[in-house]
Amino acid sequence: VKKVYITTPIYYPNAAPHLGSAYTTIIADFLARLYRALGREAFFLTGTDEHGEKLERKAEELGKTSRELVDEMSRLYKDAWVRLGIRFDRFIRTTEKEHEETVRELLKKIHGKGDIYRGTYNGLYCVGCERYYTEAELVDGKCPYHDAPLEEKDIEAYFFKLAGYRDKLLNFYEKNPQFLPEGREKEIINRVGELEDLCISRPKEQLQWGIELPFDAGHVAYVWVDALLNYVSGAGYGTSKFREVWPPDIQLMAKDITWFHCVIWPALLMSAGLELPRRVVAHGFINVDGRKMSKSLGNMVDPLELADRYGPDLVRFLLVTKLPFREDSNLVREQIPEVHKELAGSVGNLANRVLKLLSGVDVGSFKPDTKLKGSCDGLLGKIRKKAGGFDVTGISALYSQEVPELAHTINSYINETEPWKLEGAAKRDAVLNAYEGLLFLMAFLSPVLVNGWEKFRGVVDAPGMGGLKGFGQNSPGLEPSSSKLIMYER
Ligand SMILES: [Zn+2]
Repeated sequence: VKKVYITTPIYYPNAAPHLGSAYTTIIADFLARLYRALGREAFFLTGTDEHGEKLERKAEELGKTSRELVDEMSRLYKDAWVRLGIRFDRFIRTTEKEHEETVRELLKKIHGKGDIYRGTYNGLYCVGCERYYTEAELVDGKCPYHDAPLEEKDIEAYFFKLAGYRDKLLNFYEKNPQFLPEGREKEIINRVGELEDLCISRPKEQLQWGIELPFDAGHVAYVWVDALLNYVSGAGYGTSKFREVWPPDIQLMAKDITWFHCVIWPALLMSAGLELPRRVVAHGFINVDGRKMSKSLGNMVDPLELADRYGPDLVRFLLVTKLPFREDSNLVREQIPEVHKELAGSVGNLANRVLKLLSGVDVGSFKPDTKLKGSCDGLLGKIRKKAGGFDVTGISALYSQEVPELAHTINSYINETEPWKLEGAAKRDAVLNAYEGLLFLMAFLSPVLVNGWEKFRGVVDAPGMGGLKGFGQNSPGLEPSSSKLIMYER
Protein backbone atom coordinates (compact mmCIF):
# COMPACT_ATOMS: atom_id res chain seq x y z
CA VAL A 1 0.00 0.00 0.00
CA LYS A 2 1.22 3.46 -0.88
CA LYS A 3 2.08 5.73 2.03
CA VAL A 4 -0.06 8.81 2.55
CA TYR A 5 2.25 11.55 1.31
CA ILE A 6 1.70 14.93 2.98
CA THR A 7 3.69 18.07 2.23
CA THR A 8 3.98 21.64 3.44
CA PRO A 9 5.59 24.29 1.27
CA ILE A 10 9.27 24.65 1.99
CA TYR A 11 9.73 27.88 3.89
CA TYR A 12 11.89 30.78 2.88
CA PRO A 13 14.24 31.09 5.85
CA ASN A 14 14.96 34.81 5.75
CA ALA A 15 13.20 35.25 9.09
CA ALA A 16 12.22 33.03 12.02
CA PRO A 17 9.13 30.81 11.62
CA HIS A 18 5.92 32.71 12.26
CA LEU A 19 2.38 31.79 13.18
CA GLY A 20 1.34 31.19 9.56
CA SER A 21 4.07 28.67 8.74
CA ALA A 22 3.60 27.06 12.16
CA TYR A 23 -0.10 26.66 11.34
CA THR A 24 0.52 24.91 8.00
CA THR A 25 3.16 22.66 9.54
CA ILE A 26 1.10 21.75 12.62
CA ILE A 27 -1.89 20.85 10.43
CA ALA A 28 0.38 18.67 8.27
CA ASP A 29 1.82 16.97 11.36
CA PHE A 30 -1.66 16.49 12.79
CA LEU A 31 -2.79 14.82 9.55
CA ALA A 32 0.26 12.55 9.35
CA ARG A 33 -0.33 11.44 12.95
CA LEU A 34 -4.03 10.96 12.30
CA TYR A 35 -3.39 8.69 9.30
CA ARG A 36 -0.95 6.65 11.34
CA ALA A 37 -3.49 6.39 14.13
CA LEU A 38 -5.98 5.05 11.61
CA GLY A 39 -3.54 2.40 10.52
CA ARG A 40 -2.10 3.99 7.35
CA GLU A 41 1.56 4.61 6.82
CA ALA A 42 2.37 8.25 6.21
CA PHE A 43 5.27 10.27 4.85
CA PHE A 44 5.42 13.89 5.95
CA LEU A 45 7.80 16.25 4.18
CA THR A 46 8.69 19.81 5.12
CA GLY A 47 11.84 21.89 4.75
CA THR A 48 13.45 25.14 3.74
CA ASP A 49 13.75 26.91 0.39
CA GLU A 50 17.32 28.15 0.46
CA HIS A 51 18.18 29.74 -2.86
CA GLY A 52 17.41 33.12 -4.36
CA GLU A 53 18.21 36.77 -4.43
CA LYS A 54 16.60 37.71 -1.15
CA LEU A 55 18.77 35.33 0.87
CA GLU A 56 21.85 36.29 -1.08
CA ARG A 57 21.24 39.97 -0.28
CA LYS A 58 20.45 39.26 3.34
CA ALA A 59 23.68 37.25 3.77
CA GLU A 60 25.63 40.17 2.28
CA GLU A 61 23.98 42.58 4.67
CA LEU A 62 24.90 40.40 7.62
CA GLY A 63 28.47 39.89 6.38
CA LYS A 64 27.97 36.14 6.07
CA THR A 65 28.21 33.72 3.19
CA SER A 66 24.90 32.50 1.79
CA ARG A 67 25.81 29.01 2.98
CA GLU A 68 26.41 30.18 6.56
CA LEU A 69 23.10 32.00 6.60
CA VAL A 70 21.00 29.09 5.30
CA ASP A 71 22.70 26.58 7.62
CA GLU A 72 21.82 28.79 10.55
CA MET A 73 18.29 29.53 9.43
CA SER A 74 17.30 25.98 8.51
CA ARG A 75 18.41 24.88 11.99
CA LEU A 76 16.13 27.54 13.44
CA TYR A 77 13.18 26.05 11.56
CA LYS A 78 13.95 22.48 12.53
CA ASP A 79 14.28 23.43 16.19
CA ALA A 80 11.05 25.42 16.11
CA TRP A 81 9.09 22.49 14.68
CA VAL A 82 10.46 20.13 17.30
CA ARG A 83 9.44 22.57 20.04
CA LEU A 84 5.91 22.55 18.64
CA GLY A 85 5.68 18.76 18.82
CA ILE A 86 6.05 18.39 15.04
CA ARG A 87 7.61 15.16 13.80
CA PHE A 88 8.48 15.23 10.10
CA ASP A 89 9.79 12.21 8.21
CA ARG A 90 12.09 14.26 6.05
CA PHE A 91 13.30 17.84 6.31
CA ILE A 92 14.48 18.86 2.88
CA ARG A 93 16.85 21.72 2.15
CA THR A 94 17.09 22.88 -1.44
CA THR A 95 20.84 23.32 -1.04
CA GLU A 96 21.24 19.56 -0.51
CA LYS A 97 23.13 17.66 -3.17
CA GLU A 98 20.27 15.17 -3.73
CA HIS A 99 17.85 17.98 -4.40
CA GLU A 100 20.18 19.83 -6.76
CA GLU A 101 20.77 16.64 -8.71
CA THR A 102 17.04 15.90 -8.96
CA VAL A 103 16.31 19.42 -10.20
CA ARG A 104 18.99 19.14 -12.87
CA GLU A 105 17.77 15.71 -13.92
CA LEU A 106 14.16 16.82 -14.25
CA LEU A 107 15.08 20.03 -16.09
CA LYS A 108 17.14 17.94 -18.47
CA LYS A 109 14.09 15.75 -19.10
CA ILE A 110 11.83 18.74 -19.66
CA HIS A 111 14.41 20.35 -21.96
CA GLY A 112 14.82 17.07 -23.84
CA LYS A 113 11.10 17.01 -24.42
CA GLY A 114 11.34 20.37 -26.20
CA ASP A 115 9.43 22.26 -23.52
CA ILE A 116 12.20 24.79 -22.79
CA TYR A 117 13.44 27.58 -25.10
CA ARG A 118 15.64 30.67 -24.88
CA GLY A 119 14.24 34.21 -25.07
CA THR A 120 14.20 37.60 -23.37
CA TYR A 121 11.96 38.87 -20.68
CA ASN A 122 10.94 42.33 -19.66
CA GLY A 123 9.09 42.15 -16.46
CA LEU A 124 7.98 43.77 -13.26
CA TYR A 125 9.78 41.97 -10.51
CA CYS A 126 9.04 41.90 -6.80
CA VAL A 127 12.16 41.14 -4.77
CA GLY A 128 10.00 40.20 -1.79
CA CYS A 129 8.12 37.49 -3.71
CA GLU A 130 11.03 36.59 -6.01
CA ARG A 131 8.67 36.55 -8.96
CA TYR A 132 7.42 38.65 -11.84
CA TYR A 133 3.98 40.18 -11.91
CA THR A 134 1.76 41.13 -14.82
CA GLU A 135 0.13 44.58 -14.77
CA ALA A 136 -3.24 42.96 -14.09
CA GLU A 137 -2.01 41.34 -10.90
CA LEU A 138 -0.79 44.56 -9.32
CA VAL A 139 -2.71 46.39 -6.64
CA ASP A 140 -2.27 50.18 -6.88
CA GLY A 141 0.77 49.55 -9.07
CA LYS A 142 2.39 47.49 -6.34
CA CYS A 143 2.85 43.84 -5.45
CA PRO A 144 -0.37 42.48 -3.88
CA TYR A 145 1.64 41.10 -0.94
CA HIS A 146 4.37 43.66 -0.48
CA ASP A 147 4.14 47.40 -0.14
CA ALA A 148 7.29 47.96 -2.19
CA PRO A 149 7.55 49.25 -5.79
CA LEU A 150 8.37 46.70 -8.49
CA GLU A 151 11.58 46.70 -10.49
CA GLU A 152 11.44 46.71 -14.31
CA LYS A 153 13.95 44.30 -15.78
CA ASP A 154 14.95 43.13 -19.26
CA ILE A 155 16.75 39.82 -19.10
CA GLU A 156 17.90 36.94 -21.24
CA ALA A 157 16.35 33.77 -19.97
CA TYR A 158 14.96 30.32 -20.57
CA PHE A 159 11.25 29.72 -20.81
CA PHE A 160 9.04 26.76 -20.05
CA LYS A 161 6.22 26.26 -22.58
CA LEU A 162 3.54 26.59 -19.95
CA ALA A 163 0.95 27.97 -22.39
CA GLY A 164 1.15 24.68 -24.28
CA TYR A 165 -0.23 22.91 -21.20
CA ARG A 166 -3.44 24.90 -21.04
CA ASP A 167 -5.76 22.22 -22.44
CA LYS A 168 -4.01 19.40 -20.63
CA LEU A 169 -4.40 21.25 -17.34
CA LEU A 170 -8.08 22.03 -17.93
CA ASN A 171 -8.65 18.42 -18.85
CA PHE A 172 -6.86 17.27 -15.71
CA TYR A 173 -8.95 19.55 -13.46
CA GLU A 174 -12.12 18.26 -15.06
CA LYS A 175 -11.20 14.63 -14.50
CA ASN A 176 -9.85 15.27 -10.99
CA PRO A 177 -12.20 17.81 -9.43
CA GLN A 178 -10.72 17.21 -5.97
CA PHE A 179 -7.29 18.48 -7.10
CA LEU A 180 -8.00 22.21 -6.94
CA PRO A 181 -8.46 23.81 -3.51
CA GLU A 182 -12.11 24.18 -2.54
CA GLY A 183 -13.53 27.59 -3.28
CA ARG A 184 -10.67 28.61 -5.60
CA GLU A 185 -11.53 26.42 -8.62
CA LYS A 186 -13.14 29.11 -10.77
CA GLU A 187 -10.42 31.67 -10.20
CA ILE A 188 -7.72 29.20 -11.24
CA ILE A 189 -9.58 27.80 -14.25
CA ASN A 190 -10.26 31.32 -15.55
CA ARG A 191 -6.63 32.32 -15.25
CA VAL A 192 -5.43 29.13 -16.95
CA GLY A 193 -7.41 30.26 -19.98
CA GLU A 194 -4.87 33.06 -20.45
CA LEU A 195 -1.74 31.12 -19.67
CA GLU A 196 1.65 32.48 -20.80
CA ASP A 197 5.00 30.74 -20.97
CA LEU A 198 7.02 30.86 -17.79
CA CYS A 199 10.50 32.25 -17.33
CA ILE A 200 12.43 29.56 -15.47
CA SER A 201 15.95 30.93 -15.20
CA ARG A 202 18.08 33.86 -14.14
CA PRO A 203 21.45 34.75 -15.65
CA LYS A 204 24.26 33.92 -13.29
CA GLU A 205 25.69 37.45 -13.30
CA GLN A 206 22.43 38.48 -11.66
CA LEU A 207 22.21 35.62 -9.23
CA GLN A 208 24.91 33.22 -8.04
CA TRP A 209 22.93 31.51 -5.33
CA GLY A 210 20.92 28.93 -7.26
CA ILE A 211 21.01 25.66 -9.17
CA GLU A 212 22.83 25.80 -12.51
CA LEU A 213 20.76 24.72 -15.51
CA PRO A 214 21.98 21.36 -16.84
CA PHE A 215 22.03 22.69 -20.43
CA ASP A 216 23.52 26.16 -19.78
CA ALA A 217 25.89 26.80 -16.89
CA GLY A 218 25.48 30.56 -17.37
CA HIS A 219 21.98 30.45 -15.87
CA VAL A 220 20.45 29.24 -12.63
CA ALA A 221 16.96 27.86 -12.09
CA TYR A 222 14.17 30.25 -11.17
CA VAL A 223 13.65 29.88 -7.43
CA TRP A 224 10.04 28.71 -7.74
CA VAL A 225 10.92 25.89 -10.13
CA ASP A 226 13.77 24.88 -7.83
CA ALA A 227 11.42 25.01 -4.83
CA LEU A 228 8.49 23.10 -6.36
CA LEU A 229 10.72 20.20 -7.32
CA ASN A 230 11.53 19.64 -3.63
CA TYR A 231 8.42 17.48 -3.45
CA VAL A 232 10.04 15.14 -5.96
CA SER A 233 13.53 15.09 -4.48
CA GLY A 234 12.16 14.95 -0.91
CA ALA A 235 10.26 11.77 -1.79
CA GLY A 236 13.52 10.10 -2.76
CA TYR A 237 13.40 10.42 -6.55
CA GLY A 238 15.61 7.83 -8.17
CA THR A 239 15.52 5.47 -5.15
CA SER A 240 13.25 2.53 -4.37
CA LYS A 241 11.52 4.64 -1.66
CA PHE A 242 10.05 6.89 -4.30
CA ARG A 243 7.47 4.34 -5.43
CA GLU A 244 6.14 3.88 -1.88
CA VAL A 245 5.43 7.58 -1.59
CA TRP A 246 4.69 9.18 -4.96
CA PRO A 247 2.40 11.02 -5.79
CA PRO A 248 1.57 13.51 -3.00
CA ASP A 249 -1.89 12.98 -1.48
CA ILE A 250 -2.25 16.24 0.44
CA GLN A 251 -0.23 19.35 -0.41
CA LEU A 252 -0.93 21.94 2.25
CA MET A 253 -0.29 25.65 1.91
CA ALA A 254 -1.60 29.11 2.60
CA LYS A 255 -3.92 30.43 -0.09
CA ASP A 256 -1.43 32.92 -1.61
CA ILE A 257 0.68 30.26 -3.35
CA THR A 258 -2.03 28.08 -4.91
CA TRP A 259 -1.29 29.36 -8.43
CA PHE A 260 2.18 27.87 -8.41
CA HIS A 261 0.92 24.56 -7.03
CA CYS A 262 -2.20 24.24 -9.16
CA VAL A 263 -0.78 25.34 -12.50
CA ILE A 264 3.00 25.51 -12.80
CA TRP A 265 3.62 22.46 -10.64
CA PRO A 266 1.33 19.99 -12.44
CA ALA A 267 2.53 21.28 -15.84
CA LEU A 268 6.16 20.64 -14.87
CA LEU A 269 5.21 17.14 -13.70
CA MET A 270 3.33 16.39 -16.92
CA SER A 271 6.35 17.47 -18.91
CA ALA A 272 8.68 15.35 -16.75
CA GLY A 273 6.33 12.37 -17.09
CA LEU A 274 5.48 12.02 -13.40
CA GLU A 275 2.11 11.20 -11.86
CA LEU A 276 0.20 14.23 -10.57
CA PRO A 277 -0.69 15.01 -6.93
CA ARG A 278 -4.11 14.12 -5.56
CA ARG A 279 -5.05 17.32 -3.76
CA VAL A 280 -3.82 20.87 -3.29
CA VAL A 281 -5.26 22.10 -0.01
CA ALA A 282 -5.23 25.80 0.84
CA HIS A 283 -5.94 27.41 4.18
CA GLY A 284 -6.79 31.02 4.95
CA PHE A 285 -4.63 33.64 6.63
CA ILE A 286 -4.68 34.10 10.39
CA ASN A 287 -5.57 37.58 11.56
CA VAL A 288 -4.89 38.59 15.14
CA ASP A 289 -7.38 40.70 17.06
CA GLY A 290 -9.21 41.43 13.82
CA ARG A 291 -6.21 42.76 11.88
CA LYS A 292 -3.49 41.39 9.69
CA MET A 293 -0.49 40.56 11.89
CA SER A 294 2.23 43.17 11.73
CA LYS A 295 5.08 44.39 13.85
CA SER A 296 3.92 47.98 13.61
CA LEU A 297 0.46 47.07 14.91
CA GLY A 298 2.09 45.17 17.75
CA ASN A 299 -0.23 42.20 17.27
CA MET A 300 2.37 39.57 16.42
CA VAL A 301 1.81 36.16 17.96
CA ASP A 302 4.93 34.04 18.29
CA PRO A 303 3.95 30.35 18.37
CA LEU A 304 7.15 29.46 20.23
CA GLU A 305 6.45 32.00 22.95
CA LEU A 306 2.99 30.48 23.37
CA ALA A 307 4.48 26.99 23.48
CA ASP A 308 6.93 28.06 26.19
CA ARG A 309 4.16 29.56 28.24
CA TYR A 310 1.37 27.01 27.86
CA GLY A 311 3.07 23.99 26.30
CA PRO A 312 3.00 22.84 22.67
CA ASP A 313 -0.28 20.94 23.16
CA LEU A 314 -2.14 24.20 23.75
CA VAL A 315 -0.72 25.77 20.58
CA ARG A 316 -1.73 22.69 18.59
CA PHE A 317 -5.18 22.49 20.18
CA LEU A 318 -5.73 26.19 19.50
CA LEU A 319 -4.68 26.02 15.85
CA VAL A 320 -6.32 22.69 14.99
CA THR A 321 -9.64 23.07 16.81
CA LYS A 322 -10.28 26.80 17.13
CA LEU A 323 -9.60 28.24 13.68
CA PRO A 324 -11.80 27.66 10.63
CA PHE A 325 -9.52 25.95 8.16
CA ARG A 326 -10.45 27.31 4.76
CA GLU A 327 -11.42 30.89 5.49
CA ASP A 328 -9.30 33.63 6.99
CA SER A 329 -9.52 33.29 10.73
CA ASN A 330 -9.32 35.65 13.64
CA LEU A 331 -7.25 34.79 16.66
CA VAL A 332 -8.17 36.90 19.65
CA ARG A 333 -5.19 37.09 21.97
CA GLU A 334 -7.32 37.70 25.03
CA GLN A 335 -9.04 34.38 24.48
CA ILE A 336 -5.90 32.27 24.52
CA PRO A 337 -5.85 31.83 28.34
CA GLU A 338 -9.53 30.81 28.12
CA VAL A 339 -8.73 28.12 25.56
CA HIS A 340 -6.02 26.94 27.91
CA LYS A 341 -8.55 26.76 30.76
CA GLU A 342 -11.05 25.03 28.51
CA LEU A 343 -8.55 22.37 27.50
CA ALA A 344 -7.58 21.72 31.13
CA GLY A 345 -11.20 21.87 32.20
CA SER A 346 -12.77 19.62 29.61
CA VAL A 347 -10.13 17.05 28.73
CA GLY A 348 -7.81 17.27 31.75
CA ASN A 349 -10.51 17.21 34.41
CA LEU A 350 -12.47 14.51 32.62
CA ALA A 351 -9.41 12.26 32.52
CA ASN A 352 -8.76 12.82 36.24
CA ARG A 353 -12.39 12.26 37.07
CA VAL A 354 -12.65 8.95 35.20
CA LEU A 355 -9.31 7.64 36.42
CA LYS A 356 -10.33 8.40 40.01
CA LEU A 357 -13.61 6.51 39.54
CA LEU A 358 -11.66 3.57 38.17
CA SER A 359 -9.89 2.85 41.44
CA GLY A 360 -11.52 -0.13 43.07
CA VAL A 361 -13.21 -1.23 39.82
CA ASP A 362 -11.90 -4.26 37.94
CA VAL A 363 -11.17 -3.45 34.33
CA GLY A 364 -12.86 -6.24 32.40
CA SER A 365 -16.08 -7.00 30.60
CA PHE A 366 -19.06 -4.70 31.05
CA LYS A 367 -22.44 -3.93 29.54
CA PRO A 368 -21.97 -1.16 26.97
CA ASP A 369 -24.10 1.97 27.04
CA THR A 370 -25.62 2.09 23.56
CA LYS A 371 -25.86 5.86 23.35
CA LEU A 372 -22.34 6.69 24.52
CA LYS A 373 -20.86 3.86 22.50
CA GLY A 374 -22.85 5.05 19.49
CA SER A 375 -21.36 8.56 19.80
CA CYS A 376 -17.82 7.19 19.91
CA ASP A 377 -18.25 4.73 17.05
CA GLY A 378 -20.16 7.25 14.98
CA LEU A 379 -17.40 9.82 15.34
CA LEU A 380 -14.72 7.27 14.51
CA GLY A 381 -16.66 6.36 11.37
CA LYS A 382 -16.87 10.00 10.32
CA ILE A 383 -13.15 10.61 10.90
CA ARG A 384 -12.29 7.49 8.89
CA LYS A 385 -14.52 8.56 6.03
CA LYS A 386 -13.13 12.10 5.79
CA ALA A 387 -9.56 10.83 6.10
CA GLY A 388 -10.21 8.21 3.42
CA GLY A 389 -11.31 10.96 1.04
CA PHE A 390 -8.35 13.21 1.99
CA ASP A 391 -10.97 15.79 2.93
CA VAL A 392 -8.92 18.12 5.11
CA THR A 393 -11.68 20.70 5.49
CA GLY A 394 -14.03 17.93 6.64
CA ILE A 395 -11.50 16.55 9.12
CA SER A 396 -10.89 20.05 10.43
CA ALA A 397 -14.64 20.59 10.90
CA LEU A 398 -14.91 17.38 12.95
CA TYR A 399 -12.01 18.46 15.13
CA SER A 400 -13.45 21.88 15.80
CA GLN A 401 -16.90 20.55 16.70
CA GLU A 402 -17.60 16.92 17.39
CA VAL A 403 -14.28 15.78 18.84
CA PRO A 404 -14.17 18.42 21.62
CA GLU A 405 -17.90 17.84 22.20
CA LEU A 406 -17.28 14.20 23.05
CA ALA A 407 -15.68 15.38 26.31
CA HIS A 408 -19.00 17.00 27.27
CA THR A 409 -20.95 13.91 26.24
CA ILE A 410 -18.84 11.73 28.54
CA ASN A 411 -19.10 14.22 31.38
CA SER A 412 -22.89 14.29 31.03
CA TYR A 413 -22.95 10.51 31.03
CA ILE A 414 -21.10 10.48 34.35
CA ASN A 415 -23.36 13.18 35.82
CA GLU A 416 -26.45 11.22 34.79
CA THR A 417 -25.35 7.77 35.92
CA GLU A 418 -23.72 8.98 39.17
CA PRO A 419 -21.48 5.91 39.48
CA TRP A 420 -20.38 6.93 43.01
CA LYS A 421 -23.91 6.17 44.19
CA LEU A 422 -23.93 2.75 42.54
CA GLU A 423 -22.57 -0.60 43.61
CA GLY A 424 -21.54 -3.93 42.12
CA ALA A 425 -22.16 -4.59 38.42
CA ALA A 426 -24.08 -1.34 37.91
CA LYS A 427 -21.15 0.69 39.19
CA ARG A 428 -18.65 -1.26 37.13
CA ASP A 429 -20.73 -0.78 33.96
CA ALA A 430 -21.07 2.96 34.50
CA VAL A 431 -17.38 3.48 35.27
CA LEU A 432 -16.12 1.30 32.42
CA ASN A 433 -18.42 2.95 29.90
CA ALA A 434 -17.00 6.31 30.90
CA TYR A 435 -13.48 4.88 30.75
CA GLU A 436 -14.07 3.52 27.27
CA GLY A 437 -15.42 6.90 26.17
CA LEU A 438 -12.32 8.58 27.57
CA LEU A 439 -10.05 6.14 25.71
CA PHE A 440 -11.83 7.04 22.48
CA LEU A 441 -11.61 10.75 23.18
CA MET A 442 -7.92 10.62 23.97
CA ALA A 443 -7.23 8.46 20.93
CA PHE A 444 -9.06 11.01 18.74
CA LEU A 445 -7.02 13.80 20.30
CA SER A 446 -3.71 11.94 20.16
CA PRO A 447 -2.63 13.65 16.89
CA VAL A 448 -3.29 17.04 18.53
CA LEU A 449 -2.25 16.67 22.18
CA VAL A 450 1.00 14.87 21.59
CA ASN A 451 2.45 15.36 25.09
CA GLY A 452 -0.88 14.81 26.83
CA TRP A 453 -1.33 11.56 24.92
CA GLU A 454 2.09 10.25 25.95
CA LYS A 455 1.31 11.01 29.57
CA PHE A 456 -2.15 9.44 29.34
CA ARG A 457 -0.76 6.35 27.67
CA GLY A 458 1.70 5.93 30.51
CA VAL A 459 -1.26 5.72 32.90
CA VAL A 460 -3.68 3.54 30.94
CA ASP A 461 -1.04 1.13 29.70
CA ALA A 462 0.01 0.31 33.28
CA PRO A 463 -0.75 -3.23 34.52
CA GLY A 464 -4.39 -3.67 35.49
CA MET A 465 -5.53 -0.58 33.60
CA GLY A 466 -6.54 -2.38 30.42
CA GLY A 467 -5.40 0.40 28.13
CA LEU A 468 -6.96 0.81 24.73
CA LYS A 469 -5.46 -2.37 23.32
CA GLY A 470 -6.18 -4.54 26.36
CA PHE A 471 -9.65 -3.14 26.48
CA GLY A 472 -10.37 -4.05 22.89
CA GLN A 473 -9.17 -7.59 23.37
CA ASN A 474 -10.83 -8.42 26.66
CA SER A 475 -14.05 -6.57 26.62
CA PRO A 476 -17.22 -7.74 24.91
CA GLY A 477 -18.26 -4.12 25.25
CA LEU A 478 -16.05 -3.20 22.32
CA GLU A 479 -16.87 -4.15 18.79
CA PRO A 480 -14.04 -5.26 16.52
CA SER A 481 -14.14 -1.95 14.65
CA SER A 482 -13.26 -0.06 17.79
CA SER A 483 -10.28 -2.19 18.58
CA LYS A 484 -8.75 -1.08 15.30
CA LEU A 485 -8.42 2.32 16.87
CA ILE A 486 -5.04 1.34 18.15
CA MET A 487 -3.38 4.67 18.08
CA TYR A 488 -0.07 3.81 19.62
CA GLU A 489 1.40 1.12 17.42
CA ARG A 490 3.48 3.61 15.50
ZN1 LIG B 1 5.81 40.81 -3.44
